[in-house]
Amino acid sequence: MKLLSKIAFFFLFIIITISFIYCSKDETMNQNTIPYTRMYAEIDFRVYNELYSINTPATVNKYGVRLIGYNGHGIFISKINSDEYSAFDRTCPNHGDDFSNVLEYTKGDLFYHCKECGAKYNYINGYATKSLNPQNTENRIIPKLQEYNTRIINDYTLRVTNIR
Ligand SMILES: [Zn+2]
Repeated sequence: MKLLSKIAFFFLFIIITISFIYCSKDETMNQNTIPYTRMYAEIDFRVYNELYSINTPATVNKYGVRLIGYNGHGIFISKINSDEYSAFDRTCPNHGDDFSNVLEYTKGDLFYHCKECGAKYNYINGYATKSLNPQNTENRIIPKLQEYNTRIINDYTLRVTNIR
């Protein structure tokens, strides 16, 4: 009897562990609209002066000598209010399994653009301006841009990461 309950406990433990693994996997997948790429960068406002001002996004392709973002595509960063920044990958998530399209930002514009599919993404929240793809007869919903966490480290440094 004692052995049996030990065995039962063991299996219960296994089941709980497995369900935790699956839950956390699901959570990660829900947040990723492009394949996961480890992101860690410390962005210096003295280099990217536009990040001192609100609503003037910066295109950042490197941290030191290393290319950042999915497949080295780079990221966009924008100061959205006095103490908050948004950071998004430059990869357009609107091409099914093809993640080779890189978004562009033109100074003074309100959106990040994809020349290939015509999608425009809001730089504050990363959502497409039209939720449905105009070129797609299935009217597939355009995924949100891949977001990265931001944290102000000091007067001139912003940390951008997806490491928990
Ligand atoms: Zn696109």
